[in-house]
Amino acid sequence: MKIDKSENLFAEAQKITPGGVNSPVRAFRGVGGVPRFIERGEGAYLYDVDGNKYVDYVLSWGPLIHGHAHPQIVDALHQQAKKGTSFGAPTELETQLAQRIARLMPAVEMVRFVSSGTEAVMSVIRLARAYTKRNKIIKFSGCYHGHADMLLVQAGSGVATLGLPDSPGVSPLTTADTLTAPYNNLAAVEQLLNENSGEVAAILIEPVAGNMGMVLPEPGFLEGLRLLANKNGTLLIFDEVMTGFRVSLGGAQQHFNVVPDLTCLGKVIGGGLPAAAYGGRRDIMREVAPSGAVYQAGTLSGNPLAMVAGITTLDLLSATGVHEKLTDTAEQVVAALKEAAAAASIDVQVSSVGSMWGFFLNSSPVRSYEEAKTSNTKLFSEIFHRLLEHGVYIAPSQFEAGFVSTVHTSETLSLTKSAFQRAFSGV
Ligand code: PLP
Repeated sequence: MKIDKSENLFAEAQKITPGGVNSPVRAFRGVGGVPRFIERGEGAYLYDVDGNKYVDYVLSWGPLIHGHAHPQIVDALHQQAKKGTSFGAPTELETQLAQRIARLMPAVEMVRFVSSGTEAVMSVIRLARAYTKRNKIIKFSGCYHGHADMLLVQAGSGVATLGLPDSPGVSPLTTADTLTAPYNNLAAVEQLLNENSGEVAAILIEPVAGNMGMVLPEPGFLEGLRLLANKNGTLLIFDEVMTGFRVSLGGAQQHFNVVPDLTCLGKVIGGGLPAAAYGGRRDIMREVAPSGAVYQAGTLSGNPLAMVAGITTLDLLSATGVHEKLTDTAEQVVAALKEAAAAASIDVQVSSVGSMWGFFLNSSPVRSYEEAKTSNTKLFSEIFHRLLEHGVYIAPSQFEAGFVSTVHTSETLSLTKSAFQRAFSGV
């Protein structure tokens, strides 16, 4: 495969940008080799600067649920751009998107837009602390909630890929109130709540973990967290930045029928533009400035381009049968992967829920980050590169999830199937 242009661009980029990228996992450090520089995307396909074409299962790390350059989203952006790209004053679009979110996720009674998932989670923690008048939070090892200092404790994703236990520059005082439990371990959460009785503001969780590879909550786990939160006067926060509108139209909270107090959203709600949000119970959200005292602001928050992309994305997604098709597509992807691995006698654990999927090169089931780390990352790197060679682009790390879009068709599936077979059979 010819990648000369990517090689040259990567060399240039490294002279001017740390590691040559603007978000660490993009650099392929977890798998080695040269990241592909992208020229354009169309539907389910990515085209790199050397003219190579890939079926894309990264989809900008989740947002592109309708694939690249969807004509209706592009058209909505054109129309809005002609009217102006940012006003720093309210628009009707913000209310329209907020109303759609509240309709799809009834637990989100009020919404505040921000520009990134990091900002959404950072702000929701401030709100939870203010509302409960408590300081501590419980998170789960391997869950990533953006790069705010207090949450860079046993965070998955890029931090896991790079093998950093934490990040230099995060002061110990900032993380002193962050308690960590293993995913899917209710007893550990209960113990933390008992040891810190009356002090825990919130339990923060990815209701389906997608930043340690994809890990599903075991039956009863999310329900158990809800009960523990109720018992301890602690808020339950679902970080649905990745799972929102992906795991089901109403997010993981609808799929598992567990109602959080507060929810963080991102990725899909911006339709590929920078938008994120936090929302939830009206009595809590009212505490946010200017209706309340909890300060939070943003120059580009509720940006009109991001709002029209989000509105169009959710409207397309809400059409009858769309989510069922997404679920079916993801199921077919993991079935094909399982079949290819079995034919090559390679141990693999696969899962999918809604339009999210994942696999671990592991002979045992993976229920936590501690178990995810026992996966064969060396073999993953080999398979990753073989998949690229055969035209399939998955995340360059064993510790990331995969995604499908509404424009992944039977053609993309058959290309994928044959790439899986060729990638696995050769290792
Ligand atoms: N929360 C979760 C669950 C995420 O997956 C991510 C990003 O991948 C974030 C928060 C941070 O979002 P952003 O990268 O937009 O800051």
